[in-house]
Amino acid sequence: MLRKLILAASRSPRLERVIVDSPVSGDVVRRYVPGPAIDDAVRATRDLTGSGLTVTVDNLGEDTTTLEQATAVRDEYVALLRALSAAELTPAAEVSVKLSAVGQRLDEKQTLENARAICAAATEAGTTVTLDMEDHTTTDSTLEILGELRKDFPTTGAVVQAYLRRTEADCRELSAAGSRVRLCKGAYAEPESVAYQSRLEVDKSFVRCVNILMAGDGYPMLATHDPRLIAIGQDRARWFGRSADQFELQMLYGVRPAEQRRLAHDGYTMRVYLPYGTESFGYLVRRLAERPANMALFARSLVAR
Ligand code: FAD
Repeated sequence: MLRKLILAASRSPRLERVIVDSPVSGDVVRRYVPGPAIDDAVRATRDLTGSGLTVTVDNLGEDTTTLEQATAVRDEYVALLRALSAAELTPAAEVSVKLSAVGQRLDEKQTLENARAICAAATEAGTTVTLDMEDHTTTDSTLEILGELRKDFPTTGAVVQAYLRRTEADCRELSAAGSRVRLCKGAYAEPESVAYQSRLEVDKSFVRCVNILMAGDGYPMLATHDPRLIAIGQDRARWFGRSADQFELQMLYGVRPAEQRRLAHDGYTMRVYLPYGTESFGYLVRRLAERPANMALFARSLVAR
């Protein structure tokens, strides 16, 4: 019931204005989302790269319910990539794209064409794209589109979610030479039939996937704020003879920022996932309502460094 209320609130433009315009809650939102416009993303990217970090920029739009909206998202990414390139922030900055935003629930063929246009713009800007992974009903379609994109844009990155029972097998499939793979725990509320439910099971799956990716020939990208899993990742990289430029660590903008800089200072490639856009409030609230663990992540980041 509470979750339904929170989700309904996240779709209220009036409530969004009240929250974002308030000095206190507005500051909280801006800690995770620097602003609504491309200029805000460019400014935040410049600050991060100036501290030795690399970045993946994500455009937060409204839910895409028409093909016109999907085209507008595609155009926004093309403009974003041009702006990042003009500001000489590529290749340190790449972009992350949710296929649902470019039409996945409406028309797969059009989605592939939109994603292809974004990959082409990224290539022109001297950088690349990673396809975010959404809920499990989209996994097969996302991996199929990824396979198509990689024929022309081989550096396009995949995301796998350790909470899904299928993910070890996906890691084996995706660990070939040249394949960039982001491993995360997973952020959606998924049923037991497809996903591990306990923290311990998810963590154990994450470690098994780290082993597969580090042993393989691809480029692992470990997206977690979990100090234990980061230490295991660093240890596994050493075990498999990978140097610091043969894998990377990733965290969300605003979450453990001091630790992000410390890891970069220690010589690791640390990539910050930077969301910007008009849907900042909806993004935060939906992420919080999705799973109790997400609520804990944001709450901790307000008090911890
Ligand atoms: P958690 O399980 O939240 O926390 C584990 C431990 O980490 C905690 O016990 C604590 O010790 C430490 N910790 C966590 N947060 C903090 C904090 N703020 N301060 C101090 N210590 C803390 N999900 C998807 O489903 N699809 C995607 O495409 C996707 N992309 C992502 C990209 C990036 C770069 C990142 C970082 C996450 C992404 N996620 C994605 C979200 C991910 O799946 C998890 O939901 C999210 O990262 C929380 O899991 P966690 O591993 O970071 O740690």
